[in-house]
Amino acid sequence: MQLPIQSAPQHSVVLPITGKKVKFRPFLVKEQRNMLMVKEDSKADLIFDSLVHMLESVTEADFKIDSLPMTDIEFLFMNVRAKSVGETQDVQYPCRQKDCSGTLNCKVDISKIEVEKPDTDGRIELSKDLKVQLEVPSAKKMMSVIDLNEQDMIKQLMLICMTKIFDDENIYDLSEYRDSEISAFVDSLTMEQFGEMAKFFENLPSVKLPMKGICDKCGKKDDQVLQGFVNFF
Ligand SMILES: [Zn+2]
Repeated sequence: MQLPIQSAPQHSVVLPITGKKVKFRPFLVKEQRNMLMVKEDSKADLIFDSLVHMLESVTEADFKIDSLPMTDIEFLFMNVRAKSVGETQDVQYPCRQKDCSGTLNCKVDISKIEVEKPDTDGRIELSKDLKVQLEVPSAKKMMSVIDLNEQDMIKQLMLICMTKIFDDENIYDLSEYRDSEISAFVDSLTMEQFGEMAKFFENLPSVKLPMKGICDKCGKKDDQVLQGFVNFF
């Protein structure tokens, strides 16, 4: 006789940035074990790859997981995690008091997850008659620049996330232009205009989880915010 295999329950979630609806099942013991093993390695790109791989196995979607913005991936992961191992998670973080080497222990509640969405549609006015349209980078694009220094990272993000340029007369669809042409446009910006565009990437949407803990050594309370997929496992 064949052994009974549990049919996975179907949950669904609407992603905060793209608005896409995704069906998922909880992850399995072996899938969680794989991820925890990769986390030991603690290299962000490896952790990201295994996170995407796990999400691909537990979801039903007609798009690639790494084409989503990082915020949607983090939000999806937290929801899958909540249905798999529970709504709360034990987190330890170091005390920030001067000369204290203590640790704060706290429980974070995944249902308290907050998504911070900046109030912008990505259209940046560079001068009276020059505007550009930027889009929130996919997680795949974000990971492709993660090893660059800040200045190079911002420039590279501009190149891959700028979709249109508008002037008085025309709309330029950048999918029709070569990388070298777009790069020459970015190089022609003033420092101030570069800074205006950089702000968009410095304030991308993010997933945050509030934490409240008490230090086991000095007894001081401290509130912090947990963010970044590496810290959500
Ligand atoms: Zn302390």
